[in-house]
Amino acid sequence: MPDPGMPDPGLAGKNALVTGGSRGIGRAIVERLAGSGMDVTFTYISNEEAAQKVIDENPGLKITAEKVDVRDSAAAMACIEAMVDRVGTIDVLVNNAGVIRDNLLPMLEDDDLSAVFETNIEGVFNFCRAAVPFMMSKRSGRIINISSVSAEKGGRGQTNYAASKGAINSFTKALAVEVGRRKILVNAVAPGVIETEMSQEVRDLAGDEITSNIVLKRYGQPSEIANAVWFLSSDLASYITGQILSVDGGFKM
Ligand code: NDP
Repeated sequence: MPDPGMPDPGLAGKNALVTGGSRGIGRAIVERLAGSGMDVTFTYISNEEAAQKVIDENPGLKITAEKVDVRDSAAAMACIEAMVDRVGTIDVLVNNAGVIRDNLLPMLEDDDLSAVFETNIEGVFNFCRAAVPFMMSKRSGRIINISSVSAEKGGRGQTNYAASKGAINSFTKALAVEVGRRKILVNAVAPGVIETEMSQEVRDLAGDEITSNIVLKRYGQPSEIANAVWFLSSDLASYITGQILSVDGGFKM
């Protein structure tokens, strides 16, 4: 039963695309949006088993998986076009797929830079460029980019990753200005350290060094990032654009 005191988030019946939805934060976002009545398509790069699990473990929700490498601009275009052909619109785009290749600067290989930049920056560029024309013609849309606390808080061994996420913050603001007139709202969510496979090694090595510097004294959960994405996707966030929302337990301070 919907709570009569709660405003309607306006998501039911709308269509979302989430990149990198097979695991971690992306999976939580897929489940949160689909659980609100959205038809959600998500992409992954290689882990078919994890992708199938998202579908199998959420019976009754409208979830479709597509194997698409976000670095491939033609594939991104084809993915968005196929989704719009199938469900009619793209109302929400969540650019979540990302990778880390942490190392101290002298040890970083060329490939550590290109893998991170091509996935974390070009991937976002590819999917936004493919989705924006459809949103413009509808005069509505939401784009939410998953950034990181690393964009603003320096971290050892993260020059490549931090630079990629700093670029996402700048990209988010520039695109928000560019498409605001067409009623497309563009924001980013900047997670702190969240318990996923990506952060496992860092958390294992850090012991309690990281948590002692987080105001809330704990790591975050994927669902806590999904809640922020849900809010920014919803009608409740109708006057918010060009913002970078930190969801980091106070880690940045
Ligand atoms: P995970 O490593 O747990 O999951 C990554 C997801 O992205 C998987 O679904 C993976 O697919 C997919 N993916 C990776 N590369 C590509 C690609 N080239 N094309 C398509 N899909 C791809 O990551 P997290 O859930 O931890 O991170 C999600 C986002 O949140 C990232 O942008 C990350 O930078 C950001 N973030 C994470 C933090 C954390 O502490 N975990 C902190 C701050 C930001 P597959 O399953 O097929 O491999």
